[in-house]
Amino acid sequence: MQVTAMDIYRLLPKTNCAECGEASCMAFATKLSQKEIDLELCTPLAADELEKLENLLAPAVREITIGTGDKTVTFGGDEVLYRYELTYYNPTPLVIDVSDNMDDKTFRKRVKLIEKTEFERTGEKLKLNAIALRNASGNNDNFAEAALKLKKSKFPLILCSLDPVAMKAALEKVGDERPLIYAATENNVEDMAALAIEYDCPIALFVQNDLEKMKELSRILRSKGIKDIVLDPGTFVGDGIGDTLDNFVMIRRLGITEGDDDFRFPLLGIPAVTWLSEKDEVEGGIKEATIAATLIDKYADILIIHGTNIWELIPILTLRQSVYTDPRKPQAVDPGIYEFGEVNEDSPVLMTTNFALTYYTVEGDLKSGKANCYLLVLDTDGRAVDVSIAGGQFNGKSVADLIKESGVEDKVKTRILMIPGLAAPVSGEIEDETGWEVKVGPRDSSAVAGVLLKLKENA
Ligand code: SF4
Repeated sequence: MQVTAMDIYRLLPKTNCAECGEASCMAFATKLSQKEIDLELCTPLAADELEKLENLLAPAVREITIGTGDKTVTFGGDEVLYRYELTYYNPTPLVIDVSDNMDDKTFRKRVKLIEKTEFERTGEKLKLNAIALRNASGNNDNFAEAALKLKKSKFPLILCSLDPVAMKAALEKVGDERPLIYAATENNVEDMAALAIEYDCPIALFVQNDLEKMKELSRILRSKGIKDIVLDPGTFVGDGIGDTLDNFVMIRRLGITEGDDDFRFPLLGIPAVTWLSEKDEVEGGIKEATIAATLIDKYADILIIHGTNIWELIPILTLRQSVYTDPRKPQAVDPGIYEFGEVNEDSPVLMTTNFALTYYTVEGDLKSGKANCYLLVLDTDGRAVDVSIAGGQFNGKSVADLIKESGVEDKVKTRILMIPGLAAPVSGEIEDETGWEVKVGPRDSSAVAGVLLKLKENA
């Protein structure tokens, strides 16, 4: 159940002392309910109330961190079933597997590839997050040696073996780095639990397609005082994807809606199992990406993936970014004037809005087209061109204000403004308010550089 500002307010001192930086306790409670401020900023809070508030604010799904120092990744912490009810926190970490039976060169090459994989979208660098080491050799020494090699990696680890002896061998090498132990099962739960306690590591619980058994084992782990538990009910491909989704959805409902303490833990999915039955690189990559995307939507908190082709990873990373974008905050860039290429007093002046996706698309098109121009970015509260025209944020007055505030009239002699094709309905209004000549540009910014080139040739 979502905690409201009033639930929090009842436990605050209600003195409005402003020591937290907020004008009132209610303002603080409102921000705290939205996770926009830290509880500890309310310094007058008595110890009893602090404890009550900490319990009240504990997320429905436990937040878990693996790794230590600057090698960490945090996941879980979910509060709601549907993103529109609040937002989703902690984007699903994408973990790539490596095996302890790879030769040294292949092993290091794969780790380097994992660490280097990234691409930029809407100003954000999208990256992979952790490495899962599989005890594919079945040999304890190999597993421990490979774990030791991964100490040099910049990513946190998941150690994958169902054999407690192999797990202990690896933990002796990297247990101080707080890897996720994968996994406790019905057959090894006591031994794996003992390792999780000894090394103070989070532990995954793997129970395939049997939520009753999962509940029983989760309770055993909890009864030993283990708090950081990750649940894996199995990832099934092909016709089994329905069961996979059913299990994920049921566990999340039990955790959030029913408040069942045995299920209030993050969910782990393993799209990498695709490769157990699929050998074709393209087919396998497409299937694995599809399963990963499906599980990000419902409700995987961490995923282990095998494919490293960028064409497979880009859709997964893009979807993750979109799902974990806070719907309460418009994705916007700073409004103002931006320069592209070499500009002078004769350079053309273009305009777009400060919706991040629009801006970075235009930016990419101008850069790849090697355009030399000024770009005025209008503050539309992060709305796209057509939406801000409809909403009234993109109008003659707002454009006139931007021209004035940006100082563009001191930078160029020309008084010609190219607006996006979708802004054509307000072109006359802009001319009236600004005194500039308005040219309606293409609807698609990929054509802008070509248009600028033609204008230059005809000048
Ligand atoms: S510091 Fe605490 S008591 Fe003071 S205004 Fe903020 S929330 Fe209220």
